[in-house]
Amino acid sequence: MPEDWDRAVAVAAHPDDLEYGLASAVARWTGQRKHVSYLLATRGEAGIAGLPPDQVGPLRVEEERRGAALVGVTEVEFLDHPDGLVEYGTALRRDLAAAFRRLQPQVIITMNFDLTWGEEGPVNHADHRAVGLATLDACRDAANGWVFPEAGPPCTDIRDAYVATAGAPTHFVDVTDTIDAGVASLREHRAYIEGLGREFDPDEFLKNLAGYAGLGAACEYAVALRRYPMG
Ligand SMILES: [Zn+2]
Repeated sequence: MPEDWDRAVAVAAHPDDLEYGLASAVARWTGQRKHVSYLLATRGEAGIAGLPPDQVGPLRVEEERRGAALVGVTEVEFLDHPDGLVEYGTALRRDLAAAFRRLQPQVIITMNFDLTWGEEGPVNHADHRAVGLATLDACRDAANGWVFPEAGPPCTDIRDAYVATAGAPTHFVDVTDTIDAGVASLREHRAYIEGLGREFDPDEFLKNLAGYAGLGAACEYAVALRRYPMG
């Protein structure tokens, strides 16, 4: 993946989404003194079975901020859409476009929004599908001053969006030197991982994923992304 840019925004639906693989790449970029912000559609308040949303929301916001800090990200914004019920539509596109106009990124990164994880894998979360598609559309919205004119002056610098953990990757980021920071970042999501109610080892999980991507990228560990040029 080209690295001739200075500012990126990474967009996801929930706290922890960006930590499932992408954070290792973020650690590489912030190590190059690039500026990366996180933008999350929800606070993840409906994400832990048995714990009520009013307790879970603040907990997961804190986990996200701590995990982000471990990969050099200090700017984490929450758009406060309802967890589990995020809708693709103009409200979400407006919130994303307004954030892009404030943050003025050149590159947008988001997560897989395919219907399924892989060809025969489980159905992807409805929030992931809504947020991923709206993120791509909001790149164009942000550049068009006639769309959402109340949401600040246009942002015309977005050249490409990249989607992580999607099928048919076109680009790779070598994360061999930063995967441990990515693992530490995922480990910060303690309440979420405990709430899974089963054994889960972030180190093993992320190294398997990145090791597999690394096979196609001729390095030990990689993050695979699919590029969507913005024209
Ligand atoms: Zn998620």
